[in-house]
Amino acid sequence: MKHRLELHLHLDGSLRPETVWDLAVKQGIRLPVNSPEEVRFRMRVPEDCKTLDEYLERFALPLLVLQEEDAIERVAFELVEDLAKAGLDYAEIRFAPQLSVKQGLSQNAVTEAAIRGVARGMEAYPGIRAGLILCCMRGDTNEELNLQTVDMVKKYLGDIVCAVDIAGAEGQFPTELFKKVFDRANEYQLPMTIHAGEVGGPDSIRTALSYGTKRIGHGVAAIKDETLIKELIEKNITLEVCVTSNYHTKIAKTLADHPIRRLFDAGVKVTVNSDNMTASDTHLQKELEILRSVFKFTDKEIERLQENAWDARFLK
Ligand SMILES: [Zn+2]
Repeated sequence: MKHRLELHLHLDGSLRPETVWDLAVKQGIRLPVNSPEEVRFRMRVPEDCKTLDEYLERFALPLLVLQEEDAIERVAFELVEDLAKAGLDYAEIRFAPQLSVKQGLSQNAVTEAAIRGVARGMEAYPGIRAGLILCCMRGDTNEELNLQTVDMVKKYLGDIVCAVDIAGAEGQFPTELFKKVFDRANEYQLPMTIHAGEVGGPDSIRTALSYGTKRIGHGVAAIKDETLIKELIEKNITLEVCVTSNYHTKIAKTLADHPIRRLFDAGVKVTVNSDNMTASDTHLQKELEILRSVFKFTDKEIERLQENAWDARFLK
């Protein structure tokens, strides 16, 4: 395989549970659990998870310890280390700086801490190139924070910070509410990817496309709409597909129901990603194995998916 990479991976959903425990001890935070094993359990999506909202509850615990610069730098470093050790040569890691400002840090400080961690990771493991995508968050009280995040991307865009995204509860806060945020991103001509068509339907994807994005996080709802599938192909849009995560949020009722094979066969530029390594107890290799065993992807087809990701990467 020429390249081994993923484009859609959340920092806070991919922390080492033992690090969360260690950080809590060091920061004097009382966690609602009594051991690193319990941390792991609490960070992991339960097998009977039914919705994206329930899935997103897994992030409350890790975010408690991500309110200090050293902690953010450490987890960013560790994730690059974990990915390098897993044999990846490229990865884009995403996170929302605004979720780490609860104890007074600025988004500037948070972003710089994450950049330091990633840079240190690449120094220690020169075989991997890693980037950071800064996420805005879906919500109805955080527009200022979202606009600040866009400003952070403009300010730090370079060798590590590479794009803006929006994450969070798509069902509650549809993509169309965030025009102002993406207008600003376009004003600055920032690279972008947008979570859409995960819980939302084809219209959410259309709205994201209207903002000018060339990449969609998930986008699996496109399977419901042939015209949209055609549009994705014509516009050369890349979908960052996360099979296990979609199963956990019950966008796919079973793994086999997941539309990745149908989207790929239809000619959509599909990529394979783990979304959240800890929350979904997965990693790239595991996702590739699912593609082979459940969806009968051949080595050549897997290679195509990785080539798709390579072509759509933000850092060239
Ligand atoms: Zn995601």
